[in-house]
Amino acid sequence: MVVFTAEHTALRRLVRDFAEREIGPYAEEWEAKGSFPAHELFRKMAGLDLLGLEYDPAYGGQGADHLCTVILHEELGRVGPAGVALGIGIQTDMATPSLHHFGSEDLKQRYLAPAIRGEAVCAVAVTEPDAGSDVTALRTRATRDGDDWVINGTKLYVTNGTQADWVCLLARTSDEPGHGSLSQIIVPTDTPGCHVQRTLDKLGMRSSDTAELTFTDVRVPIGNTIGEVGLGFYQQASQFQNERLVMSYAAVGSMETALTRTADHLKTREVFGKPLIDHQHVAFTLAELGARLDVLRHYNYAAAEAYVRGEDVSRFATVGKLETARLAREIAAVCLQFHGAMGYMEEMWTARYFRDSPVWSIGGGADEVMLYVLSRLDGYHT
Ligand SMILES: Cc1cc2nc3c(=O)[nH]c(=O)nc-3n(C[C@H](O)[C@H](O)[C@H](O)COP(=O)(O)OP(=O)(O)OC[C@H]3O[C@@H](n4cnc5c(N)ncnc54)[C@H](O)[C@@H]3O)c2cc1C
Repeated sequence: MVVFTAEHTALRRLVRDFAEREIGPYAEEWEAKGSFPAHELFRKMAGLDLLGLEYDPAYGGQGADHLCTVILHEELGRVGPAGVALGIGIQTDMATPSLHHFGSEDLKQRYLAPAIRGEAVCAVAVTEPDAGSDVTALRTRATRDGDDWVINGTKLYVTNGTQADWVCLLARTSDEPGHGSLSQIIVPTDTPGCHVQRTLDKLGMRSSDTAELTFTDVRVPIGNTIGEVGLGFYQQASQFQNERLVMSYAAVGSMETALTRTADHLKTREVFGKPLIDHQHVAFTLAELGARLDVLRHYNYAAAEAYVRGEDVSRFATVGKLETARLAREIAAVCLQFHGAMGYMEEMWTARYFRDSPVWSIGGGADEVMLYVLSRLDGYHT
């Protein structure tokens, strides 16, 4: 059983209060606008030391344990909207882990520290028009020219992409066969040739901006390479692991809210002479979904404890991402259904949650990719 300390509980309270005060009330405004004000929100979060929980204090981080990361994302997921939780997750745990783990001192001072201080918004740019699940197919190329990389290519679906000050880019730096041809490079978005081609209009996650970015003869120093040239695939794979874990944590928080809000509604809505919750099918359905959610919450906690112990959490990250995504989609559909026509209305949270939920099974590696990874981990194929 996971042991949360008094500090963990205080952090949970802090994040919940922050999210209820600074995010919740603006949910509809930001959903309608298609983005949340990342610079403004991140500066506020930095003021509460929330942007670098596990990172080294030398760069402004808190040096906290991974259970704090669980709490942060559970609470952001709980308050929602999911688009804002995603945008924050990109900043804290999807675009910055590689830089923290593998980046040079100079890169960390110039890019990680401002991100933790909430002065710089960041993004991660991996996916391309012809390369999503199969990262090795990516075509964006960084060609060495003296002490610089010259970058050309297109990146798609970049979360925070219209607001980012820098992106953690995965690019092809050689034509070697296998996985050794990719590198992670920090690209400041004000570099000439770096362009927001378009803002993408999405089904859900509407409060988070998603961009297509183009790179035309973008010149950055070789020193902007994170870690070693040619190790980008492996470094990004490790960064994906953080991404999958925090997606699981946020999904659990969001499902808790969805079930609670639905139960509250069902206690007051009367059908056939009694509250809906008193109809056995309804109560049993909620109870069963709650039980499955409990299992996943504790699976996440077990993952976090293994992470704290420094163990390999690949399997945890894969199973957690797969199963929380599936359950979130199921819960979103049931919550909408149990609200009837009201649940189908745009003004209801159920409609938003239903639109948001498919992304859990696509972003950060689709369900089928999780099954591919899992079947390999379990020795069913090489
Ligand atoms: C809201 C949102 C935000 C995103 N943010 C970012 C971001 O910030 N940065 C970034 O780089 N990317 C981002 N992405 C992209 C995301 O990571 C990709 O969509 C994802 O990796 C899948 O790639 P794809 O869309 O190209 O699908 P494809 O690779 O074309 O796959 C299509 C479908 O095929 C199936 N499939 C895939 N592989 C297999 C297989 N081996 N066996 C069987 N079936 C399979 C799956 O059902 C999959 O959904 C975002 C996506 C969304 C929707």
